[in-house]
Amino acid sequence: MRKVYLDHAATTPLAKEVLEAMEPFFSEKFGNASSLHFFGREARDAIEKARNEIAKFINAKPAEIIFTSGGTESDNLALKGVAFASKDKGNHIITTKIEHPAILETCKWLEKQGFKITYLPVTKEGLVEPESVEKAITKDTILVSVMHANNEIGTIQPIEEIAKICKKHKVLFHTDAVQTFGKLDIDVKKMNVDLLSASAHKIYGPKGVGLLYVSKDVKIEALQHGGGHEQNIRSGTENVAGIVGFAAAVKLMQKLGKKEQERERKLRDLLISKILEIKDSRLNGSKEKRLPNNVNVSFKGVEGEALLLRLDQEGFAVSTGSACSSRSLEPSHVLIAIGLKPEEAHGSLRITLGKDTTEQDIEKFLNVLPKIVASLRKISPF
Ligand SMILES: *Cc1c(COP(=O)(O)O)cnc(C)c1O
Repeated sequence: MRKVYLDHAATTPLAKEVLEAMEPFFSEKFGNASSLHFFGREARDAIEKARNEIAKFINAKPAEIIFTSGGTESDNLALKGVAFASKDKGNHIITTKIEHPAILETCKWLEKQGFKITYLPVTKEGLVEPESVEKAITKDTILVSVMHANNEIGTIQPIEEIAKICKKHKVLFHTDAVQTFGKLDIDVKKMNVDLLSASAHKIYGPKGVGLLYVSKDVKIEALQHGGGHEQNIRSGTENVAGIVGFAAAVKLMQKLGKKEQERERKLRDLLISKILEIKDSRLNGSKEKRLPNNVNVSFKGVEGEALLLRLDQEGFAVSTGSACSSRSLEPSHVLIAIGLKPEEAHGSLRITLGKDTTEQDIEKFLNVLPKIVASLRKISPF
């Protein structure tokens, strides 16, 4: 049976051209980028070329890109790095209830270190209201962190408006752009973003590499100390192959461009409209302000996990809740934040498309889904 992968918000397959770009750095080009000899210079050149390309892509300066081990580390570095560098200015951070655990758990930890965190609510569609950010700012606020788009329900936040408010109040603004980097237009200068997190494996790049954009005007404290790599902000011998792969993935996303986003958007809308024909189904998140590849739906009286397992048997890989919390019995914090009851939140299904998703895949999926929902409802205790 051909397996159909519909879980691109969790991770994406490594693209062939990305693997090809990386391969030499696993074999003959093995140098340590800090070494002064030929092998070292070759690795250094590859890293700086990648940094230049990626910086240009988001209108940043190369020196403003810090390579990390992924989105989680970038989020940690942004929040803790700013918190500890701005201690003398204040101890208050504003974020939202629907952030990725990499932000929420970091905030919880910062609370234990004496920082005060405000977790902003969101609308029924999952939108953060810019006015609520402005209202929450106090004289002690040092940082606002709002994700660009949500990984579960795909809601795209008005981060330009929020960033403008932060700038007006001289508060730093960070955005977790892991779900949008390479997909939506990002210009860090135009958007007034001070810090931005991204990850390679969500855009057909390798796992274990990401970046934090840090505006040259922003001071952050290092979390990892050692040989002074990445401008003394992130010590550790660079992941040369990973960084080269990240740049290749960015190049691929540029090549796919708006055309691919439009293609996915059409498939997404087909999925949404057909799924909503199923009785007692609902779309979670916004209809308009939504990632082009994201569908998140709930079916009354159906367990998301049961649905996932039945779809898995039929060869379809989807997700319920977020991949990180899918092993826990806690309902999704995002779905709770947009007002779903716990039992509704348990019945959610996330379908996320990618560049290799075909119309036939979607048709096959739509053939199978209503039957599974119906059969699960027959045995449902609700
Ligand atoms: C995947 C994801 C992360 C974590 O990135 P990793 O590279 O897997 O650590 C952070 N934030 C969001 C919104 C994500 O989707």
